[in-house]
Amino acid sequence: MEHAHSSRIQEFIGDPVSENPAVGREKMEEIFQDIQADIRFDHELNGCLNCGICTATCPAAHYYDFSPREIVQLLWTENLEGIYDAMQEKIWACAQCYTCAARCPFENSPGGLIMLMREAAIKHGMESAKNVLRPFSRVMLKLISTGNQLSPDMITADGFPDWGPNISKIKAPLEVLRKAIPMPTLNTTATAWEVNLTTSIELYTIWEETGVLDQLETIDENLYDVILDIMDEKREDLADWEDEQS
Ligand code: SF4
Ligand code: SF4
Repeated sequence: MEHAHSSRIQEFIGDPVSENPAVGREKMEEIFQDIQADIRFDHELNGCLNCGICTATCPAAHYYDFSPREIVQLLWTENLEGIYDAMQEKIWACAQCYTCAARCPFENSPGGLIMLMREAAIKHGMESAKNVLRPFSRVMLKLISTGNQLSPDMITADGFPDWGPNISKIKAPLEVLRKAIPMPTLNTTATAWEVNLTTSIELYTIWEETGVLDQLETIDENLYDVILDIMDEKREDLADWEDEQS
C-alpha cells in the first residue's frame, strides 16, 4: 500500500509540528517514512479507537511514564514531532511482551510498532539508541562474533550483583565444571558452545547482507571496528584451513 505524503491530521487540523522542533521537519518526515515503509507497519496498525485497553494491560505502563495507546495514536495521526519525541526515551520502556497485541480490538500490535520505531532510532543513530545499547556492548560483541549471547567467562560476581545468594554459583570452578560436560562443544568458557568456523563465516555474511553491521557502525563505531577485525581474522583462519585441506 502506498502512503500519501500529506497526513490526515495535516489536512484537518493543520501542521502538528511546533515552531521550534528539535530537528528539521524533513528529518522527522524521513524517520516517519522509514517506519511507515516497513512491510510490518500496515499489518500492525489498522486504526485506533483510543480506548486505552493496551495501556491498561501493559506492564511497562505501570512503572514508567509510558503508554502504548499514546504511541499508537502518534503513529495513527502521523504526529511527526510527537513520534520523534517518543523515540528519545519512551519507546525504550516497552518490554516487548505483546500483551497489548493480544488485547487490542483493532488487532494492532503496539509492541510491534514500537519495535519498528526502535529499529528506525538505531538506523538514524539517535542518542537514545546509543545510550540504551551501550551497556550491552559485550553481549553484542559476543553475539555478532560467535552467535552466542553470553559465555561463562562473562558471568562475574561484579556483573551480576543482583543474583543474591546465587552468587556462590558464579564463584564455582567453571573451567573444571565445563570440562566435565560430556559434549565437547560445551567444554569451553569463552563461548556458550564452540562455534564451527564455517558457521561463523556464514553468520558474518548474514550480518553483512541484512544491514546489521551498518546499523552497528551507526551506533558504536569502536565496537564495529573490533568486530570487523575479528571477522577478518576468522575468514583468514578458514582460508588457511581450506588451503591445508587441499
Ligand atoms: S492500539 Fe488498540 S487497544 Fe490501544 S488504544 Fe488503540 S484501539 Fe485501543
Ligand atoms: S509489548 Fe510493550 S507496549 Fe505492549 S504490553 Fe508489552 S510492554 Fe506494553
